[in-house]
Amino acid sequence: MTTETKFFADATLAGLARWLRLLGYDTVCFQGKAGRPLMRQAAVEGRILLTRRRDLMERQYSGRLLLLPGTSAVKQLSFVLGKLSLEIQVQNLYTLCLTCNQKLISLERQSVRDLVPEYVFEHCTEYTQCPECRKIFWPGTHQRNALQFLKDRGIAVKNAETLQIMF
Ligand SMILES: [Zn+2]
Repeated sequence: MTTETKFFADATLAGLARWLRLLGYDTVCFQGKAGRPLMRQAAVEGRILLTRRRDLMERQYSGRLLLLPGTSAVKQLSFVLGKLSLEIQVQNLYTLCLTCNQKLISLERQSVRDLVPEYVFEHCTEYTQCPECRKIFWPGTHQRNALQFLKDRGIAVKNAETLQIMF
């Protein structure tokens, strides 16, 4: 499976949704109550439904549904990755806005001169921006921290050593 795998998470899974986005998985978080509309929308969009609501398992549903254990976002993440045999690819990390789930777009270095801290501008050549919230991202310590965090919890990231950390 590739990052074509898309998810639809119920409102109680916001933490997990952010992790999935960080890894490059398109994940919509449903803001309403879990139930029929949630299931319908997930099926229409071809997304795997992630929920903690056991009763949804008993309903008739044409799409794929995963019932998640516990309340820890990281444990839920391991569960999803394991169940679907997903391999995390380092080049997919931080390709989506963690908040908006929008694909980040590349920016010219010159265009961010007045928008990022000076020390960042001096060290980084690659920038991306969320088309929705306009937040600007650059390769930084948060990526290394995320990789370390995953590694410490036994979640492997393929080709992690190839990630270019500027500072
Ligand atoms: Zn955004």
